[in-house]
Amino acid sequence: MTVTYSELSAKGLVIEKHPNPTQFENHSDLPSSRATDYLLEVTWTIDQGWGTPSLHPYGPLSLDPASSVLHYATTCFEGMKAYRSFDGKKVTLFRPLDNINRLNDSCARASLPQLEPNAALALLEKFVEMEARFIAPGSFIYLRPMVMGTNAHLGLTTPTEAKFLIMASMMPKLNAAPLKLCSSPPDQIRAWKGGFGYAKLGANYGPTLKANNEAIKNGFSQVLWLMGEEGIVTEAGGANFFAVIKNEKTGKDEIMTCPLTTGVILPGVTRRSVLELLRNKYTSEGVEVNEKEFTISDIEKASDEGRLVEAFAVGTAYFIAPVQTIRTPAGKDISVPMSIGTSGDYAHYIKETLSQIMWSKVEHPWSHPV
Ligand code: PMP
Repeated sequence: MTVTYSELSAKGLVIEKHPNPTQFENHSDLPSSRATDYLLEVTWTIDQGWGTPSLHPYGPLSLDPASSVLHYATTCFEGMKAYRSFDGKKVTLFRPLDNINRLNDSCARASLPQLEPNAALALLEKFVEMEARFIAPGSFIYLRPMVMGTNAHLGLTTPTEAKFLIMASMMPKLNAAPLKLCSSPPDQIRAWKGGFGYAKLGANYGPTLKANNEAIKNGFSQVLWLMGEEGIVTEAGGANFFAVIKNEKTGKDEIMTCPLTTGVILPGVTRRSVLELLRNKYTSEGVEVNEKEFTISDIEKASDEGRLVEAFAVGTAYFIAPVQTIRTPAGKDISVPMSIGTSGDYAHYIKETLSQIMWSKVEHPWSHPV
């Protein structure tokens, strides 16, 4: 028998209707963090490539205990949202191909098979269409595409079988209070040069929970992950971090975020969008928007000299979250200014602008209708 290796394709998608779809009158009746009704599943084998996709009722997976993912963390994922406009008429994704391309980069890092991007997008759209009734006007559901190695073989080898899955869940309303960040403990690091911090691998998240739990126990919202002896500021929990200081030489505002070139941070879709928005709006006013390394001492010094302007975290889950306090490794609390109530001007501008795009108040190429 000759077998032909297949690229991922949305053609032939099999839909198995849910026998018992969730009944609800108001979206507020749905418990937060609850999965929606369906799971999209596609199986891959090294010989045949991707099989026929199926959309079937959500439920547990059956995995062999020797599965690669359970031992060697051969798994990566994405976090996205599907939004419904306030008038209820439009359901959209935000720059979805960016997430699919990032998923492919993560797959490459974990020796997992990649996805033909347009086929993955077509499957994502189909999934969102099926689950659109769960999205209230002016709200969203959270989408979690993932790829994992499923071959049942204890040897430390490249997965010969894998699954691509898409699930969605309702999301609890996040506390909108400004963030209090605690510097990462000196004996723990999220990512390092030559590592895999740039990829959204499961292996990047489990080990951060220890520091995160400790921070939450001490009244903080997130860990500010520092790297190296000098304390290079990388990310804030599951979000990218921005600081704004008055430049010592020019006296102008300088907006800074960790660069992608060292491979230690996740290239956030929100981060990229925020950089584009800030550069478009503020560069002509002399504000510098720089992707560059800076340290916790730089922030502390700017604060001591009255030059710290603002700080905020950006990501799909936390959206645009102003930062109010940063605890340094030495235990000093830096108080971050808030020019307009519970936000600074820059965070306010990007939050407003992105909200309008995400909830279809304006037409924009980043908004992808489903
Ligand atoms: N950094 C980390 C570690 C994350 O988990 C996330 C969330 N995906 C982000 C940054 C923000 O990325 P995005 O804007 O694409 O959600």
